[in-house]
Amino acid sequence: MLRRSFLSAATGALTARAAATRPPNFVVLFADDMGYGDLSCYGHPTIRTPNLDRMAEEGMRFTSFYAAASVCTPSRVGLLTGRYPVRAGQPNNTGPDTVGGLPLNETLLPQILKPRGYRTMAIGKWHLGYKPQEYLPTSRGFDHYLGLPYSNDMIPPFVKTNQPLEMYRDKTAVETIGDQSNLTERYTDEAKRFIRESGDDPFFLYLPYAMPHLPISAGERFRGRSRAGLYGDVIEAIDWSAGEILATIKDRGLDGNTMVIFASDNGPWHDLPDRMLAKGNQPWHTGSKNLLRGAKGTTWEGGPRVPGIFRWPGHVAPRQVSAEMASTLDLVPTLARAAGATLPNDRTYDGFDLMPLLRGERASSPRNEFFYFLGKRLEGVREGSWKLRFARDSASRQLEPQLFDLDMDPAERYDRYSENRETGDRLLVRLRAFAQELRADIAQ
Ligand code: MG
Repeated sequence: MLRRSFLSAATGALTARAAATRPPNFVVLFADDMGYGDLSCYGHPTIRTPNLDRMAEEGMRFTSFYAAASVCTPSRVGLLTGRYPVRAGQPNNTGPDTVGGLPLNETLLPQILKPRGYRTMAIGKWHLGYKPQEYLPTSRGFDHYLGLPYSNDMIPPFVKTNQPLEMYRDKTAVETIGDQSNLTERYTDEAKRFIRESGDDPFFLYLPYAMPHLPISAGERFRGRSRAGLYGDVIEAIDWSAGEILATIKDRGLDGNTMVIFASDNGPWHDLPDRMLAKGNQPWHTGSKNLLRGAKGTTWEGGPRVPGIFRWPGHVAPRQVSAEMASTLDLVPTLARAAGATLPNDRTYDGFDLMPLLRGERASSPRNEFFYFLGKRLEGVREGSWKLRFARDSASRQLEPQLFDLDMDPAERYDRYSENRETGDRLLVRLRAFAQELRADIAQ
């Protein structure tokens, strides 16, 4: 400890007094299309993720952690607004030719933190609108931005568009991106610089990686390194990135004053559309979800259920694994409360403050419900261990409502509706009422 203190002093870390009175720092590392089963600590047999495994060891790892949606844009909407994407007015993906994006009357997490003196930066994939410029991160609470304004596949031949894929620095397109193999390293360098230059101000760093969204690629030092092919290399690069960022926080003596969160925006992209099978993309360039059913773009568990890791030494006890429900929707209220910031009181939030659970002050999650949306359609609700799913199949045929006990049957293999009719009926009523409240579509 003594040695650490000396090191901290030498690297210009905060005095104890300043650290005690200022709000905590927040770092959100957000992978794209990484599956529930892609990390060693979530059971992957060959991909090695020692940094994220250690991060989980040093904090709390959730096994029922949900992204707000099972595709890219609405998932980010939920994380940054604390509201279901339908409620926030952006339930579908945006693209290179989209004008507008997440409605400008939505208040984003960095805007909520700003009054508490935060330096804020977004690095990576934005995907909440970029035309006109009012939709870019620097108009929405982030002091600075470096990254791609939408998905890395939104270029020919995968997507028909005349827009070049460009790297933005704040509000300016600075470079057309061809080779994507160094994106993870580039974002990591920028993140380290941002953390090093943060001085005594609290900071919020939001780092939505481009990877492992197709088309995947990895820097030279990662290629061929994993036993799981190129996809494994890409995940191991993200693990390296997390390790670099955690080391930078530690070097600055900010470990005890920084909450770091790792999650993914949705599950793996299985059953690729034909348009994606070009330019070297392979069907197996995608992740895994262990025994969960479904994948990206579905309301089966493999769609929205993702890794969720929280680390904040001194506040979140190490070596915790929680089967309680939590969601990226909970980040806005959790981080706002931890920062001493105030949420706007003119709107409804769909998140809960997780700190009492993270601190061990309560054993159960404040979240007892999660709703599963596909675009504007509400297809399911989970309450406790029960999940009601009322959806259409891939051929758009209406299915009968089904009821799964996720604690016993996380693979959603056994429909238990007929023997638990009271629970099923009650959840169906709840589903309909919530759809009505949000003016969402619902299966009829
Ligand atoms: Mg995604």
